[in-house]
Amino acid sequence: MPFYEFRCHTGHTTERLLPMSSDTRTTECQTCGDEANRVISAPAVAGVDKRKARLVEATQKSAYEPAVVNSVPSSGNRRATPVSHNPQHAKLPKP
Ligand SMILES: [Zn+2]
Repeated sequence: MPFYEFRCHTGHTTERLLPMSSDTRTTECQTCGDEANRVISAPAVAGVDKRKARLVEATQKSAYEPAVVNSVPSSGNRRATPVSHNPQHAKLPKP
């Protein structure tokens, strides 16, 4: 059974050992007794690449809390579309 992490509104973190089939979304905070909501976090498995763990965590988080962006994310090092300067290519039909 995996540990699930819960966080209350005050910011306390509580861990509970629950079966994977459990759909428990809230529990009682062990520190203040308030309701604590389940937090999506990467599993604590030894030997996992930290970059992969961050990617998994970001992917899981975005499933519930999509990030608000102001522009389309860059796709990295894109090369510009090659442009032909051959005058005969200008006569070809445009898509
Ligand atoms: Zn608390």
